[in-house]
Amino acid sequence: MKCILVTGGAGFIGSHFVEWMLARDSKVRVVNLDALTYAGSLGNLQGVLGHPRHIFLKGDIRDKGMVEEVFNLHQVDQVVNLAAQSHVDRSIQDPSEFVSTNVLGTQVLLDAALKAWRLPGSGPGDRSFREGVRFLQVSTDEVYGAIREGRFTEESPLAPNSPYAASKAGADLLVRAYSQTYGLPVNVTRCSNNYGPRQHPEKLIPRMAELALAGRPLPVYGDGLQVRDWLHVRDHCAALSLVLERGNPGEVYNIGGDNEQTNLEIVGRILRIQGRPRDLVVHVEDRLGHDRRYAVDHGKITRELGWRPTVEFTQGLEETVR
Ligand code: NAD
Repeated sequence: MKCILVTGGAGFIGSHFVEWMLARDSKVRVVNLDALTYAGSLGNLQGVLGHPRHIFLKGDIRDKGMVEEVFNLHQVDQVVNLAAQSHVDRSIQDPSEFVSTNVLGTQVLLDAALKAWRLPGSGPGDRSFREGVRFLQVSTDEVYGAIREGRFTEESPLAPNSPYAASKAGADLLVRAYSQTYGLPVNVTRCSNNYGPRQHPEKLIPRMAELALAGRPLPVYGDGLQVRDWLHVRDHCAALSLVLERGNPGEVYNIGGDNEQTNLEIVGRILRIQGRPRDLVVHVEDRLGHDRRYAVDHGKITRELGWRPTVEFTQGLEETVR
């Protein structure tokens, strides 16, 4: 039985990923470590809380002693790090929590993975020998910054613009360094905007859906023409599990939905699904340093691992809003 440590597994993507892995592979145990911040909830885990191969632990990834104990106690084979402060607006208000959780928390996990990997005196034939704790860092397309035309590839330079994006880029670079310096088998994935059930209501789609449902004004930043690429959370989970199983160690993989939409288009779609008038939209002062467009090229993961997005956006959004 393989043990996967999923951090942030009570959040939006994490809870879907835990469900995905338990359903996909009957030889997997999932240890789910989440601090249950405002963004995490056991309610997100209703479908898996009593599952015999799922263990939920409330804890903070920055707590070195506890994290090492988890590695030792559960004989962790793979780590999927989804724990993060994830909301750009909050990072603009107070970047410190973002640096602390997203950068330092990742470093604590990397150190624990490295320690578990290099068990003293271990080698093939030794019962305690493990081939290596594989480390998957779940990152974002926002680390590349904004792009006017074309799409970012894995070779594009990192140029994050928000404190959130900078903290994720910092974590990505640490993960790279642990691979280059110590040979830790790592992967980094950089995905575009996710949508789907159970996303926290501070994020664009659930927020706008809630406001529209209540018949209240929908505040749109600036002219609303900022472009984002949207991917259903299930498609993201499918990509993550493939990278975990078959990704080349040390490699970065972009994940995207081939589905660019302006924020105004998204809001218009939500209003149409709910049968609400367009004049509920109000334009408010733009977010500081708001990136105009993100777009990633997912050709590498498609070529190498055969992944592609499957959920059709109109249908996925309608289901999500309903
Ligand atoms: P989320 O905010 O819904 O969930 C984050 C989870 O991490 C929460 O359950 C929270 O309790 C937990 N957490 C926060 N700090 C912690 C700490 N110090 N220790 C342990 N747990 C902690 O976020 P999400 O949207 O599910 O995103 C998950 C990951 O995916 C993040 O790393 C994010 O950067 C990345 N990502 C998200 C998107 C997206 O569109 N949502 C896109 C690409 C990448």
